[in-house]
Amino acid sequence: MQSFEKLLLENKAWAGEKKLHDPGYFERLATNQKPEFLWIGCSDSRVPADIIVNAAPGEIFAHRNIANQVIATDFNSLSVIQYAVQVLKVQHIIVCGHYNCGGVNAALGPQRPELELLNKWLLHIKDVYRMHRDEIDALNSQAERAHRLVEINVIEQVRRLSQFSIVQSAWKKDRQPVLHGWVFALDDGVLQQLITLPPGSDVDSIYQEFGDDA
Ligand SMILES: [Zn+2]
Repeated sequence: MQSFEKLLLENKAWAGEKKLHDPGYFERLATNQKPEFLWIGCSDSRVPADIIVNAAPGEIFAHRNIANQVIATDFNSLSVIQYAVQVLKVQHIIVCGHYNCGGVNAALGPQRPELELLNKWLLHIKDVYRMHRDEIDALNSQAERAHRLVEINVIEQVRRLSQFSIVQSAWKKDRQPVLHGWVFALDDGVLQQLITLPPGSDVDSIYQEFGDDA
């Protein structure tokens, strides 16, 4: 059997088991989704959102990319965020990074000429590094520096979310979503909270959207 055939087989077994335990499961799943959470995580195969928080299908709306970035010109993540906030009206957005992140590690080194597209994506993390270079370079080892950049990257992505008009409008109108920055440790499987921005949190005036009363 080829590796991909195992996936199809596992799927059949999973669907069969679900139906056996709960005959109406898929009918209910098919009708609607009302997730409370938007998850923005890394594409890394070791950090599967639903599994590490033991969530069921329907609970988490997800977007994953290399090094869990929120980039203002990325229509893919922006579309996900707009739909999650304005249509699904999620109550929480979680940006989740993880230690030993290949994208963050790569951003600490020179560009690899054979990965010209990926280099561009990683430039944003290099910018985060440059903004916090004094703090990061003061750390003793490369591992510690990578560790800290993973955390700062998450915090910066959460701050970026707070700068989007989509989020600011929802804060004003719906008093949600709460923005969270978490980090996942591969060596013990535990999540840690790094930052929480509730609706109405301070946003630097240069990033504020003009409101009705502006
Ligand atoms: Zn990663």
